[in-house]
Amino acid sequence: MFKSCWCLCPSAGLSAAKLLKASGLDPVVLEARDRVGGRTFTVQNKEAKWVDLGGAYIGPTQNRILRLAKEYGIKTYKVNEQENLVHYVNIPRDAPWRAPHAEEWDKMTMQELFEKLCWTRTARRFATLFVNLIVTAEPHEVSALWLLWYVKQCGGIMRICSTTNGGQERKFVGGSNQVSQCMARELGDRVKLQSPVYRIDQTGDMVVVETVDKQTYKAKYVIVATPPALNLKMHFNPELPPLRNQLINRVPMGSVIKCMVYYRENFWRKKGYCGSMVIEEEGAPIGFTLDDTKPDGTVPCIMGLVQSFKQFSVIVYILLRRICEIYSKVLGTDEALHPVHYEEKNWCEEEYSGGCYTAYFPPGILTQFGRVLREPVGKLYFAGTETATEWSGYMEGAVQAGERAAREVMCAMGKLQPNQIWQPEPENDEIRALPFVTTFWERNLPSVDGFLKFLGVSTFLSAAAAAGLVAYKKGIIPRS
Ligand SMILES: Cc1cc2nc3c(=O)[nH]c(=O)nc-3n(C[C@H](O)[C@H](O)[C@H](O)COP(=O)(O)OP(=O)(O)OC[C@H]3O[C@@H](n4cnc5c(N)ncnc54)[C@H](O)[C@@H]3O)c2cc1C
Repeated sequence: MFKSCWCLCPSAGLSAAKLLKASGLDPVVLEARDRVGGRTFTVQNKEAKWVDLGGAYIGPTQNRILRLAKEYGIKTYKVNEQENLVHYVNIPRDAPWRAPHAEEWDKMTMQELFEKLCWTRTARRFATLFVNLIVTAEPHEVSALWLLWYVKQCGGIMRICSTTNGGQERKFVGGSNQVSQCMARELGDRVKLQSPVYRIDQTGDMVVVETVDKQTYKAKYVIVATPPALNLKMHFNPELPPLRNQLINRVPMGSVIKCMVYYRENFWRKKGYCGSMVIEEEGAPIGFTLDDTKPDGTVPCIMGLVQSFKQFSVIVYILLRRICEIYSKVLGTDEALHPVHYEEKNWCEEEYSGGCYTAYFPPGILTQFGRVLREPVGKLYFAGTETATEWSGYMEGAVQAGERAAREVMCAMGKLQPNQIWQPEPENDEIRALPFVTTFWERNLPSVDGFLKFLGVSTFLSAAAAAGLVAYKKGIIPRS
């Protein structure tokens, strides 16, 4: 089959293909799974109606994914919660390896940085929870430079952590997977499901791509839109250049189980709680929750994230029991002990994700290998949320990456100028970003050091005090 270009997979792959098709080209999408959507996964059943077991939340400044949703008539609704954390870090979004102190911070794990700068055990523990939550990895696993960059490219701590006005403000009515499904429908039989790619050969005039079921595709260009580490399952001829080859060997995926506990009644709202909990207790299976009740008030549900390896081998009914017990303790009621339904998705077992939400960078990797993340290799171009410069790790990042890679291909074909590859996205006219009101300390502590010291003394308290947030810490912070 001769095609002008193809892309391996959604959402980044589908958005690349959508743009290429709209530009008069004829892309094919090769998807390993029997469904589109990758790390977004919406399940429908009688008990839950619909439930997002992968990526779900969107918010202001995520204008590309909001644009796609609007185009397909997919509505959003606001999550029932507000939260409030600190601050801002000044790191170049497109090239964090060029930041002042880049090498120094990249040699350090986030844990080392916290130990240096957080003054109290309480603060360090909260900081750990924060890292667990935003990148599903442990502070001792991730580079400090990478983590600081990650927060920065999402618009800062307030934007990344907040519900109202932040990354968790909204969800899609009917589930996030609809965006990929709509793009796939538009692309029609260009999307080939159950087509895991295992070989890419660019020794001839055309790039030859082979799938596990021995289908062969030929194209002028290929966009690889998988998490980087999954390229280890592919055979490249010629071999990948050394830096790219090393990169894909060194960027593991995070670890998370998404757990949805359903109740007959929304008892937490009756008690004055919105369903958001930050839970700090040794051995607690869940560190963070949000209310996942449907926008019309039906199907009461609490969404929780398990990020500890210790819980990953626990069998389902024991995990559910532990989750209900901690909810009962935090919310102060036995009602939490009586769920009516449960859904969970362990992303660590997904062969074609390798873990979630995203790839993380251990110390030393970003400064040494980061620069080749988006660098084409011959006729291969790279997309996937990991290659984004805004909201990398999120659905928004996937769309940015896919569209950027599609424009790179069009540029190689002489259809675009290099200065047209990166295009800013106009702000969504309905979901606008509001400035955050910062405190005196936030305004006057501009450096990363300052930020971390500030985090050290105040994050836990500010989080606990934030509107609608229940923070529970045995023996120290009273429940309500
Ligand atoms: C539990 C969880 C919670 C999350 N929460 C949020 C959130 O609230 N908000 C948010 O914006 N994001 C969230 N994310 C992250 C978000 O889902 C991802 O960033 C985004 O979906 C990534 O899209 P992508 O296209 O870059 O990659 P993927 O979705 O991973 O797409 C890559 C595709 O490549 C396919 N593939 C892999 N190998 C091959 C191969 N060899 N051949 C062919 N195909 C292959 C895969 O099957 C997959 O479909 C969450 C993710 C998880 C799992």
